[in-house]
Amino acid sequence: MQALRVLGLVALLALIVGAIGGKVAALAMLFAGLLGMLAWQLINLQRLVEWTHTPTEVSLPAGVGIWAHIFYDLDRRSRTSADLRERLTGALDRFHEASQAMPDGVLYLSANDRIEWLNRKAEQQFGIDGRRDHGALVTTLVREPEFVRFLQGGDYAEPLVLHSTRRAGLTLLVQVVPFGDKQKMVVSRDISQLEKLETIRRDFIANVSHELRTPLTVVTGFLETLIDGRDDFTPEDVTHFLQLALEQSLRMQALIEDLLALSALETGAPAAVEERVDVAALVQSIAEDTRLLSNGRHEIEADIDVRGGCAILLGSEKELRSAFANLASNAVRYTPAGGRIRLSWRCADGPGEFAVEDNGIGIAAEDIPRLTERFYRVDRGRSRETGGTGLGLAIVKHILSRHQAELRIVSAPGKGSRFSARFPASRLEPALPALRS
Ligand code: ADP
Repeated sequence: MQALRVLGLVALLALIVGAIGGKVAALAMLFAGLLGMLAWQLINLQRLVEWTHTPTEVSLPAGVGIWAHIFYDLDRRSRTSADLRERLTGALDRFHEASQAMPDGVLYLSANDRIEWLNRKAEQQFGIDGRRDHGALVTTLVREPEFVRFLQGGDYAEPLVLHSTRRAGLTLLVQVVPFGDKQKMVVSRDISQLEKLETIRRDFIANVSHELRTPLTVVTGFLETLIDGRDDFTPEDVTHFLQLALEQSLRMQALIEDLLALSALETGAPAAVEERVDVAALVQSIAEDTRLLSNGRHEIEADIDVRGGCAILLGSEKELRSAFANLASNAVRYTPAGGRIRLSWRCADGPGEFAVEDNGIGIAAEDIPRLTERFYRVDRGRSRETGGTGLGLAIVKHILSRHQAELRIVSAPGKGSRFSARFPASRLEPALPALRS
């Protein structure tokens, strides 16, 4: 419209010029007008072309006439599509962030099992590099046969337990969720810890059954022998058999008591009672019990030094007695007759330390880290002979950890051992306050 109006104006001017100055002047006027109009269109076209090469967020320059409409319209459309693009990119970013934050591995596969996207957890679990391996066939990177079979089998009702061949000890629970047009989402969860616990539980049940079956078999054997040969045995024989059967029953009883103690310490039993334990009295009384157990076969001394403010230990007296007595009885059981055993308590360098030292059989370096495992014994025969259950140090470790204390073991075969429990200074107090009359 605008252009027509300008054209009309130019024609009118040409007519006026023609009337005044003649035909040539009118034609020149018309030509100049048309040339001007053409130049104007070309300039606007050039501005439009330049705009298409600028970044999307730059606005179009203002135009005049028809160009103002064109520029305005194009500008509005471009802004709408930029907004839409921004919203879509935002949604995609949020989706990626959420997928990255997931505790499980997430892997998207195309219809032909090529890698489209995966989060960091999946990268670690499957050993895939998201950038490098984009578009690669997943089965060329995750090559465990059971995974390949599972993915290609198409039955995803049950998850797959995948034992990684790439990283020893890594077990994944893999689920496949088909979506869209034959695409798949693979979700992987690290269940290595659960698997380990399950193995420990199975081993534990096997160990307990084995430990109980041995003495039970002996008792059953004695009872059958006594029943079968009732008339052949002298009263002394019978007493002897019953004595042996009683020993085995006591062994089973000790085992069950230790198992109950361990389970009470492990499974949600209430936290240790905070009592103000008089450590000197406790250590002296354990030294007395240890002498009774040794029955004169060892030289046993107690060395107590509470200077430094550790006359009182805060904790459960019952549990502390059990842990300290366990260490002392081990010293008796693993030190040949004539050996020396020394119990001590001191806090000179800050933490409170209860220690049991012996010059007994000692322990090889490779066995030391495993001593607190349930049923771990260096010499099974010697442990049994001396009434051991293989649970003593496991109980000690639990009790000490309930008191934020640390068990340290220093030992050398043939030289002896030193077991020490170090309690934090926060559990120590100086002497009992004097009672007010
Ligand atoms: P056990 O009932 O077999 O003694 P523990 O858990 O108390 O079970 O100890 C585990 C193992 O640690 C023992 O079987 C023994 O081999 C070793 N052990 C513990 N204390 C000593 C010690 N003072 N000297 C040598 N070996 C020891």
